[in-house]
Amino acid sequence: MVPGEGSPSADVMLVGEAPGASEDKQGRPFVGRAGKLLDQLLEAAGLVRDDVYITNVVKARPPGNRDPKAPEVAHHLPWLEQQLALIRPRVVIPVGRHALAHFAPGRKITEVHGELVVERERQLVPWLHPAAALRNRDLRETLLQDARALPGILESVREGLSASG
Ligand code: URA
Repeated sequence: MVPGEGSPSADVMLVGEAPGASEDKQGRPFVGRAGKLLDQLLEAAGLVRDDVYITNVVKARPPGNRDPKAPEVAHHLPWLEQQLALIRPRVVIPVGRHALAHFAPGRKITEVHGELVVERERQLVPWLHPAAALRNRDLRETLLQDARALPGILESVREGLSASG
């Protein structure tokens, strides 16, 4: 199991899809190659891992890295819901389209990445998945731009300014 880790009083919670092989070995989220890039994104956003909470929708690695199936997502969901209820982050960053599909079904990651989206009273700033950016320089630059924009979004959220949704 890879439950997640980070600050229990984090303003920002990052939620990926499911652990991969490295995460499965270490029991920690985002510690493989995509995780290294995630660390760089956090740095670009002026944050370190201890400032945020990092977890996944599904807490155990799907065999062979396949996409999690709907019953698996449903099985693991109570843990994510408890984490959200306990940590009460101001902003959730769904990392990648599968995580976004959980928080905001119907929204497209290509259209809303890097922006503040309000869905079911939750403030989301979806990011592209860093694993995709490992294979594509342009995506990597887009992700870095989105990360650099995060502090400004957090400031507006803290000031209580509301988004268009
Ligand atoms: N990809 C994810 O979505 N989550 C992890 O923890 C690692 C890779």
